Amino acid sequence: MTKRLSGVQPLALEARVGAASSLVVYLDLDLTLAPVFAESEPPGVLPDLRSILDQLSLLEGALVCVLGRSGLAEMKKRLDLPRVVYAGDHGLEIEGESFRFLHPEAGFGRSALQQLNDRLAGLPLLFSGVEVDAKSLQTVIRHRSDDSPDDRNQIDMIIGSLVPPTHPDLTVVAGPTSIAIRPRLDWNKASAIRWIHERIKAPNALAIVIGDRLSEESTFSSLADAVTVRVGQLRGSRVGMSLETQADLLGFLTHLFELWKGRVDSADPAAPSPCVRPALAFGRSSPILNVRLRRAAVGRRRQALR
Ligand SMILES: [Mg+2]
Repeated sequence: MTKRLSGVQPLALEARVGAASSLVVYLDLDLTLAPVFAESEPPGVLPDLRSILDQLSLLEGALVCVLGRSGLAEMKKRLDLPRVVYAGDHGLEIEGESFRFLHPEAGFGRSALQQLNDRLAGLPLLFSGVEVDAKSLQTVIRHRSDDSPDDRNQIDMIIGSLVPPTHPDLTVVAGPTSIAIRPRLDWNKASAIRWIHERIKAPNALAIVIGDRLSEESTFSSLADAVTVRVGQLRGSRVGMSLETQADLLGFLTHLFELWKGRVDSADPAAPSPCVRPALAFGRSSPILNVRLRRAAVGRRRQALR
């Protein structure tokens, strides 16, 4: 195990697992659990990785949360793990066994996207090789990397005229082979991690945040005391541990599973912090949070429309 991990301190991990009453693992989906995709049909998760996540999510005191850029339905189809908490559309939607959260400001973006999708429907007729993948909380325009620069410029100009930088509800994120249009919100995977973690009732929960080489630093710094792991090397990153490949990630998760299973098996039920399954609490805090966010959204929107 030690040989496979770069920058990992197995003893420190073992000590932290040994002192925790519960374990919460936050994992990114694309590039961390599954290979990146450029086509409209996304790849599944490697069977061995899926299996170890399944086993981990069934252990007492353990919670597995998977975060992705796809919608919830697509993420659930790709992973198909019933005990996992899913955070889709970059964290705008979160769903667990007994709850579902939709960011209260998402509705503004959703109606703007519906209008936009009607206008983008003709794009594949104008440019060969262009696909418009319209989902309720994001629209992705995929194009071939060998498109002529003229085509790419024209597509950029069309998107720029429909969704200018001053658009009150939508924002454009351009990549090498795709352009994503998403609700303009101050909310990302890091916000979703904090949102979930604030609702975990278990005392002394150990958080492990696992992302990939493209994951934002804010994801890793979302929780002050989390153990952070990056899959794929990146120079200058402040992330605590680094794993080179998904095979290394499988090794890490297997090690974590064995550590936590050992912790559960040896737990003294009379001890002050025996292993307890983290429970997500949805009491009074959620509506209050939602009202605050909605008020802030309306204020921002009014300002943007002035
Ligand atoms: Mg990723």
